[in-house]
Amino acid sequence: MPPKKYSNSKLASFKKSIQSKLKDVEHDLGEIKDTLDHNTRGTASLSQDSVYSVHMADAGTDSYEREKGYHFMNRETDYYKHLTKALERIEDGTFGVCRICGNLIPEERMMEVPNATKCVQCKENEKLNI
Ligand SMILES: [Zn+2]
Repeated sequence: MPPKKYSNSKLASFKKSIQSKLKDVEHDLGEIKDTLDHNTRGTASLSQDSVYSVHMADAGTDSYEREKGYHFMNRETDYYKHLTKALERIEDGTFGVCRICGNLIPEERMMEVPNATKCVQCKENEKLNI
C-alpha cells in the first residue's frame, strides 16, 4: 500500500500558494496596524501583546472604527498562524492527510483551506457525534 501523502511537486505548489497568502495577510496586517497606530496617536504605542488589554479598556464612543480594526487584525493574525502551521505540516509531511482516517484530503479543499487537518467526511461524522 503506497503511503498516503501528496507528492513533492504537489506539496511545492501548495507551499507556493500558502506563501503568497501569507504575503497578502502580512500586507493587510501592516496596513491595519498603520491605521490603528494613526488612530491611537497620543496614547501609548501598541505592541502586538497589548492589543487585547487596550481593546478591553477602551470604552470610548468613537471607537467603532478602531474596534473594527482590532477585529480584523485578530482575524488576520489567526489566519496567519493557521497558514504558518500549514507550512509546518508541509515540512513534516502531514499536510493534506486527514488526521482521523489517514486519507488524503482533496486538493481543492487544501487550496481553499490550507490549514484543514480533517477530510470532509470525518468533519461531517464529528458533527453528527456532537
Ligand atoms: Zn478523514
